[in-house]
Amino acid sequence: MSRFWIVNIAFVVLLIALYLLDVQYGLSVVWYIVLIVALVALHTAGSIILSLQFFIPTRCKGESANAIAITFDDGPIAGMTDKILAILKEHNVKASFFCIGHRVAREPMLAKRLHEEGHLLGNHTYWHKATFDLQSGNTIAKELADTDNAIVKAVGVKPKFFRPPYGVTNPMVASGIKRGGKYTVIGWSVRSFDTVIKDRAKLFQRVTRSLKGGDIVLFHDYSESTLDILSDFLNHVSKLGLKVVRVDELLNEKAYV
Ligand SMILES: [Zn+2]
Repeated sequence: MSRFWIVNIAFVVLLIALYLLDVQYGLSVVWYIVLIVALVALHTAGSIILSLQFFIPTRCKGESANAIAITFDDGPIAGMTDKILAILKEHNVKASFFCIGHRVAREPMLAKRLHEEGHLLGNHTYWHKATFDLQSGNTIAKELADTDNAIVKAVGVKPKFFRPPYGVTNPMVASGIKRGGKYTVIGWSVRSFDTVIKDRAKLFQRVTRSLKGGDIVLFHDYSESTLDILSDFLNHVSKLGLKVVRVDELLNEKAYV
């Protein structure tokens, strides 16, 4: 049973208990308000903090003491992803790319190159719209299938890993993931915020300040600042004695169906 349902059942039990106490002793309405506010706060936190695993089991870090995984979301993007690939090749590092379906369909050769150079491809929805999580479970399942199909067409492998846009989940996303097949939901333990942090030094500090074995680091293909620090970041990781591996190796999970 998901934490979402455990919280909802606990809410109903507490509500009944509160009502019985109210009938017996007469309670202030404030107690009901506190209970409802707590429920709304838990649902909100559960929706936006993927690592709480509120709606669906999620892998956010590995057990390894000496390896990390780096992930790039929202590609492939010509002019950006290829520059990332060149840096990764220079450092002999394999990464994991959570791809947007329509971008794979537009850049099939770049997606193919990702695969051929030993990187992992995961599903990151077809359109990556801000309203993705407001769709029905069926529509979400179809969007995930469309992304799988675009990746199969370009690369010949069907992803098992799915990362929700913005890390937002809710009952519809959970339903879409379950209907769509046996996806492993992948989160992160180090969020770079490279889409908003433009300062190179600040970004480097953010992603290195507490980096340790088992971490999954989130970057984006389209971030110029990530491109700027990537080489220094990989040198730093190496100096810490950490190895960069793909998410499937870090989590000991199958990447493809
Ligand atoms: Zn994204």
